[in-house]
Amino acid sequence: MATFEPRSSPSSSQAGASMHFVLRRTAQILGVHPMIIGVLGTGLVLGLVSLLLDAVQMTLGDATVLVLAAALAAVAVSTSWLFAFVLREQVSKETRLRRLSTTDPLTGLANRRSLESHLAQEWDRARQRGSRLSVLFIDIDHFKRFNDTLGHAAGDEVLVAVAHCVRRVARRSVDFVSRYGGEEFVVVLPKMTTEAATVMADAIRTEVQGLQLQHITDEHRCITVSIGVATCNPGEDIAPAHLVEAADAQMYAAKTAGRNCVHAVALTKAAITT
Ligand code: GH3
Ligand code: MG
Ligand code: MG
Repeated sequence: MATFEPRSSPSSSQAGASMHFVLRRTAQILGVHPMIIGVLGTGLVLGLVSLLLDAVQMTLGDATVLVLAAALAAVAVSTSWLFAFVLREQVSKETRLRRLSTTDPLTGLANRRSLESHLAQEWDRARQRGSRLSVLFIDIDHFKRFNDTLGHAAGDEVLVAVAHCVRRVARRSVDFVSRYGGEEFVVVLPKMTTEAATVMADAIRTEVQGLQLQHITDEHRCITVSIGVATCNPGEDIAPAHLVEAADAQMYAAKTAGRNCVHAVALTKAAITT
């Protein structure tokens, strides 16, 4: 889907970009933070201005000094304004880019890249606290047939509806919902036992079924999901990828068991090494 972004004034952004570039480049060459260059630069300019005003006062008198000081103050205010504007533009551009690189554009959920970094963070947190971490692997049933029959646009609507469903159920502030890819979603649930995660997975399954989105298969008249659950105590012997793989394997077990159901496993060191 195409997105259109408002254009900023070319002259102000070009001037700003060059100013920003000069500041960053100087800071890079000197190996210091750009803020230090900003402060030193301002100090240097103020010192030079003060010397200039003294010289003018001695040669041309007080009135000329006042006019010159007012003009310089006006220049200083507009330069600071331009600089602040440029910095704000730069920060919002970086924020926008960061959001784009971590968000799935269709559903608005976190994307897989974001999942990986979030899972790594939660993993470390759980290991420090000695608490459990659960993962849900959610997959829409017979979605290819749905797409092939009703088209990708209808399929996209289903993906958005399922994403909202998952978000509605996994709503603790620490719950993390992501689109893993295609018609698959992964949810990270900190401080959650296998039993509690299974209850949440079943609530998601029921909620999706409750949408009553018409399917084209005979055995499943409406859109349903199969969900795999895996829980572990993060430790040295288990890697985050193992947890997602285990949830994925449980999701496949749910498919084999007839779809529209939940399968779960609690990982132990023995389960990982065998
Ligand atoms: P199963 O019940 O075993 O999961 O069967 P399935 O058909 O859901 O699984 P399969 O992996 O064969 O097909 C996944 C389908 O998901 C393929 C494709 O049509 C659809 N799909 C993947 N990404 C998108 C997307 O972004 N939009 C739409 N509309 N469909 C997608
Ligand atoms: Mg799939
Ligand atoms: Mg599927």
